[in-house]
Amino acid sequence: MTNDEFYMKCAIEEAKKARQLGEVPIGAVIVKDNDIISRAHNLRETLQQPTAHAEHLAIERAAKVIGSWRLEDCTLYVTLEPCVMCAGTVVMSRIPRVVYGAMDPKGGCSGSLMDLLQQPQFNHRAIVEQGVLEEACSNLLRQFFRDLRAKKVKRNTSPYKR
Ligand SMILES: [Zn+2]
Repeated sequence: MTNDEFYMKCAIEEAKKARQLGEVPIGAVIVKDNDIISRAHNLRETLQQPTAHAEHLAIERAAKVIGSWRLEDCTLYVTLEPCVMCAGTVVMSRIPRVVYGAMDPKGGCSGSLMDLLQQPQFNHRAIVEQGVLEEACSNLLRQFFRDLRAKKVKRNTSPYKR
């Protein structure tokens, strides 16, 4: 197992914590000098907060831990491709390297819909590795939405439904 795979596994563990809360299973960790300095999982429903994405929370926590908004020697590991906000937060926090698992063709802004992490117009660009443990990351999401749909069907066919 490579280092990237090891840390992605840790991000997947975070994603599973989100799933336990009924959240879309997305997890993130931030690594500095081979240490995980911050972990987080998606809490959007729990907090009813549109910014409570896994990597956004992880970045905020990492900045607190190192006492600086500049996360210059850090790598972000996240199970799903960062969205417009999270890719923006990577640029704002100067994270030099981002590793993600599954692509997000409907909302990803780190290679799918656009690539905010490698815009020559910005003063910061990040090295991006995509597809690390992709299967495991996307299976988690696929299974979650499959279960969700099954629950909805069950509810709709309830004999008590009018
Ligand atoms: Zn996001």
